[in-house]
Amino acid sequence: MIPGPAARADDAPDPVAAADPAPAREAPVDQTSIAEPGADDDRVFLDALSSVLAGWGIALDPRQFSLLLSHFRAVVETNRVMNLTRIVSPADAAVMHVADALSVVAWAATEPRIPAAANVLDVGTGAGFPAVPVAIARPAWRVTAIDGTGKKAAFVDRTAASLGLSNVRVLHARAEHAASTGEYDLVLARAVAKLDPLLTWLAPWARVGGFIVAYKNAELTPDEAGAGAALASRLGLVETEGYSYILPDESGPARRRLRIYVRGPGAGQGAPGARSRRPHGRTGTRTHQHKERGRGRR
Ligand code: SAM
Repeated sequence: MIPGPAARADDAPDPVAAADPAPAREAPVDQTSIAEPGADDDRVFLDALSSVLAGWGIALDPRQFSLLLSHFRAVVETNRVMNLTRIVSPADAAVMHVADALSVVAWAATEPRIPAAANVLDVGTGAGFPAVPVAIARPAWRVTAIDGTGKKAAFVDRTAASLGLSNVRVLHARAEHAASTGEYDLVLARAVAKLDPLLTWLAPWARVGGFIVAYKNAELTPDEAGAGAALASRLGLVETEGYSYILPDESGPARRRLRIYVRGPGAGQGAPGARSRRPHGRTGTRTHQHKERGRGRR
């Protein structure tokens, strides 16, 4: 894991973040860590997930499903000692976490402006959503996951390493305190904050013409919608029509929407995270290496 260059003092005590500035991710894959479906829970997870993805036209191979299952297992296991999520039942996690995370892949298939080897940032990744499922489903994308909580960033880093995900790197920092690079084709945030201030944190990381994607419920409160629209306008972000989808849920279909913005020239100016356009500290030297070296609130 890569410590963010401008992490706050209250983020500093994380020993993992401090110890490992730029790990090469070339260790052999531990095949034993990749799940073989077997137990009933695994079957429930895989059935629920494959049913949603098939409906969205997302085709994954058995190894990709196994990797998604392994990530889920790691989340459940670690959740015993660290508060990662409330959703741990296999069917719920498959739909409400993993499929939800992959809605961006369904949208991206409809958006020709996204490069085949997209450079993607997930702000506030928590247990690795959406970063890890996205990196598994789209191995050609280079995915950076950032979280302000050191233990969560360390969890994602460990898990991505154990799964052999060569297209994932992890930063421990708050997005608005790290020196942003304005290099990403896609900047994602799921269940992190209301649009205001969220857009302020995300905008400086996107390249001009890049997309900012906030995972939200279909309907925003009038307050959030109004404040979000005003902030987007101030930041020079152009909101697109977004991407609406439905997640099957026992208590009824959950209606979701990706709020999607395009960064225009000058966007993010004046935002706290926009204070630098240079590569972010020590991590900057790795930004074009990580493809090869690899693993190295609504
Ligand atoms: N995105 C994950 C998901 O959908 O399950 C995690 C959601 S969790 C509710 C919010 C996460 O965002 C936490 O892990 C928190 O540490 C992180 N976070 C909140 N604000 C942040 C910021 N400004 N920069 C980086 N991480 C942030």
